[in-house]
Amino acid sequence: MNQILQTKYLYKHFDGVKAVDKLSLSFEQGKITAVIGPNGSGKSTLINLLTGFVPFDSGEMVIAGKLHFTKVKCNEVAGYGLTRTFQDVRLFEQMPVLDNVLVVLTERSVWGSLFEKHGALHLAKAEEVLTRVGLWEKRRELARNLSYGQRKLLEIARMLAMNPEIIFFDEPFAGLFPEMRRVVVSVMQELRSAGKTQILVEHNMELIRELADHIFVLDSGELLAEGKPSEVLSKRDVIEAYLGE
Ligand code: ADP
Ligand code: MG
Repeated sequence: MNQILQTKYLYKHFDGVKAVDKLSLSFEQGKITAVIGPNGSGKSTLINLLTGFVPFDSGEMVIAGKLHFTKVKCNEVAGYGLTRTFQDVRLFEQMPVLDNVLVVLTERSVWGSLFEKHGALHLAKAEEVLTRVGLWEKRRELARNLSYGQRKLLEIARMLAMNPEIIFFDEPFAGLFPEMRRVVVSVMQELRSAGKTQILVEHNMELIRELADHIFVLDSGELLAEGKPSEVLSKRDVIEAYLGE
């Protein structure tokens, strides 16, 4: 058991709301850990804190038992092997699909990438990840012209291009047609086989049962339960937290 990522007493409040309330969680390397809970229970905030999009008030994040962060900078997290997808997909809307991938392979800034000559290696990687999610044929379309599902798949392709070690998925299946869901499921299974660590926020319990090795259940920013899917999803207080939504 290798705890690749930990939070210790991680705390964030917004005005009167304790969005993440002194959470101490351990995420195991090479596993898919689901984070579930009713709306407003702090799932997205947890991801925002651990990827530097929102600063935490106190507590720390620890990577590999060695790197201790009391402050996470979002422009640095990729360097530590972390990346994420967004509940509300975020892309460079006015850029072609292919360039949306090339940006993360090269400069990581739009301005720089406009003038960068993309080498054969970058183009090959972009082709690989776009083909993986079924978007290679769409490479010349502007991102804003894609369907909702295609946009979510493009975000997955961008994530793959970054070759991260730890990936946070914020509701990656929401709004996807079944065949697109299968693409994301198989991508996640491949990432697990490759030893990557994945944190999955998702509401669809069938997909959680299929994918998750471990579950954390949040309620009002606190840990309500944890364990294997088969154990956790049959607990009365977990079921009640959901029905009480
Ligand atoms: P979940 O993703 O589990 O639905 P969130 O993490 O988005 O929950 O929200 C947890 C709580 O924190 C909610 O009460 C929400 O309204 C509040 N919250 C989240 N982000 C902000 C913000 N930027 N400003 C104010 N309140 C926020
Ligand atoms: Mg959320």
